[in-house]
Amino acid sequence: MENDELTFLEEQLAGTELLACATCNEDTLHAHAEVLEVYPLATELQMQCTCCQTERTWLDWTPAKRQARQN
Ligand SMILES: [Zn+2]
Repeated sequence: MENDELTFLEEQLAGTELLACATCNEDTLHAHAEVLEVYPLATELQMQCTCCQTERTWLDWTPAKRQARQN
């Protein structure tokens, strides 16, 4: 297995978020499934519940780029 593939899998595992799952009816860990849309201020992601595999969309408001602004 190539190192790039291992790194990708590790990043996928590290990229889980605690989100409300309608099926589990509680907050569960969701894994990043795919990127649906990239907006200027947010990224819309398809997230998959790690407990029941139900997928949901989620808006990640983490800035894609951090720009240090100085006067
Ligand atoms: Zn679930």
